[in-house]
Amino acid sequence: MRSGATYRLVVALGVWLVLLASPAWARTEVRVGVLAYQGEAAAEHDWAPLARALDQALPQHHFELRYLGLNALWQAVEHRQLDFVITHGGQYAAMESQLGASRIATLDNPRWPSPGRAVGSAVVVLAARHDLQRLDDLAGQRLAATDPQAFGGYLVALRELHQRGIEADDLSLTEFSGFPMERVLDRLETGRADAAVLRGCLLEELVRSGRIAPGRFRVLEPQSFERTGGYPCQVSTQLYPDWPFISLRHTDRALAKSVAAALLALRPLPDGPSWTVPADYQPVRDLYRELEVGPYAYLRDTTLMARLRGYWWIFLALSVGLVGWVIHTVRVESQVTARTRDLQRALTERDAAHERLLAQQEEASHLSRLSILGELSGTLAHELTQPLASMANFAHSMVRRLDSGRYTPELLLQASRDIASEAERAGAIVQRIRRFARKRGAVRQDGVPPEMVQDALELFVRVLAPAPRIEVRDSWPTGSTISCDPLQFQQVMLNLLKNAWDAMQALPAHQRLIEIEIGRQPAHCTISVRDHGCGQDDAGMARLFEPFFTTRPDGLGLGLSICRTIVEAHAGRLVAQRPQDGGAGLCFIATFPAHD
Ligand code: ADP
Repeated sequence: MRSGATYRLVVALGVWLVLLASPAWARTEVRVGVLAYQGEAAAEHDWAPLARALDQALPQHHFELRYLGLNALWQAVEHRQLDFVITHGGQYAAMESQLGASRIATLDNPRWPSPGRAVGSAVVVLAARHDLQRLDDLAGQRLAATDPQAFGGYLVALRELHQRGIEADDLSLTEFSGFPMERVLDRLETGRADAAVLRGCLLEELVRSGRIAPGRFRVLEPQSFERTGGYPCQVSTQLYPDWPFISLRHTDRALAKSVAAALLALRPLPDGPSWTVPADYQPVRDLYRELEVGPYAYLRDTTLMARLRGYWWIFLALSVGLVGWVIHTVRVESQVTARTRDLQRALTERDAAHERLLAQQEEASHLSRLSILGELSGTLAHELTQPLASMANFAHSMVRRLDSGRYTPELLLQASRDIASEAERAGAIVQRIRRFARKRGAVRQDGVPPEMVQDALELFVRVLAPAPRIEVRDSWPTGSTISCDPLQFQQVMLNLLKNAWDAMQALPAHQRLIEIEIGRQPAHCTISVRDHGCGQDDAGMARLFEPFFTTRPDGLGLGLSICRTIVEAHAGRLVAQRPQDGGAGLCFIATFPAHD
């Protein structure tokens, strides 16, 4: 009894252990996402046998296939809802670089020349479109395709067009009709597109199944049999690897290893695909890089905006700097404008002041001339009295002779001539004085110094009586001139002569002597006026040219300062010095620039 109970217990334990170890209890679910590009039913039909084969090969696992579109498949991988994926090489290449997927096997379909040459595209047109013969003819035409991410249904053909210089933008309108793929042919039939993209062999399949009439469509630039390595259908493009079986980043490595081993060991169905070692998917990556899409979309992002996004702070700093520079420039500009305005105003004021000064100098100069004349007026009256008296004498003697009848025509003629001569003499004196006293602006003209000195002496000796002895030593070269105002020149000379005359008033008449010397230095005319008068002590010498310095009771003290102003206005100099010979008197030397 006791042994029977033990036996039952052992059996029960054994059954429990067997149950525990049985697949129904221990089988783990393996989720495989499959791209259902032709709808779920078609995918189910194609792939359900694979799930069953894997279930058998790996009984501890249950393989559940999930049929998804391109986007749903991508999202399921991102959210770790799948362990494996079966999709086209295009999506695999994108998942590899962006989601860390890796292929563990590639479909090996006996229909294709090799697993690496399984996918191509046919660019088809209505056979009646004779204007479309080559892919190059599609520039500006309307293209129908399945989906922007479809591989055989779009991107493979797009690369071919790109290599001929036709970009997606050059196709005036690309219509994406979605799955199933044959929809693109409707676009051709209805005239909504000029060309359509089909995966390789679909056109042949559709013809075979009777869904489209043979010869209704034509493939552009079908590749030669040799070039495709024996591809059984017409394609317009190069060929790409077949679909891979993909393990994901989070997939258990041991599971991936056993699935890979199982795939490679699977016996192919008759005419059905099997799995082989992973193909080289580099051509797919090249396609993406060339088109700058998928994993290489960032290559397109090298636009200005992308740079702006990457270096926004540099652009911000540059913009701030630029704005600052503009503000600074505007400020400096306005300051410069204001300063220029101030400067112009100051210059205008300076010019006006200069004008006023010149006018005042001229006024003072005029007053000085009148003053000289005023001082000379006494002697001037005397000078005029002489010719007038002579004229009166001649006239009276004529009257007397006429009264007494003692006149002859010769006598009358002589008397008249004498009267006319005296009148001219008086007129000449008055004329000179009027010229000297007139008020007018400064002028510049070429003058010969000895002639101008002579002019001044004429006036001086006529109005001053008794005039002192005057000696002139003239070594002025013929043809040389100075540029000057003759009236002002005469004014300077008269002033110096009158001062010399004043200084010698205490001397006996025979000792009164004025010596004038006119000479030429290399670039200057030098005129010195030397007297033998009272001279000046050191204090007087120092103040000679000060305005209002005078030692004469009726003097103004302006003559010499005005003379110096006049000479300096001619770019010359006026100085006073004691005679070099140590004799009495003073020597005034005026220099003017000379030219030939
Ligand atoms: P003013 O003749 O009205 O006094 P000036 O400026 O011509 O004014 O002369 C200023 C002073 O310089 C004179 O008062 C005189 O004292 C002195 N002076 C000018 N020329 C001579 C001279 N040749 N000899 C001595 N003193 C002179």
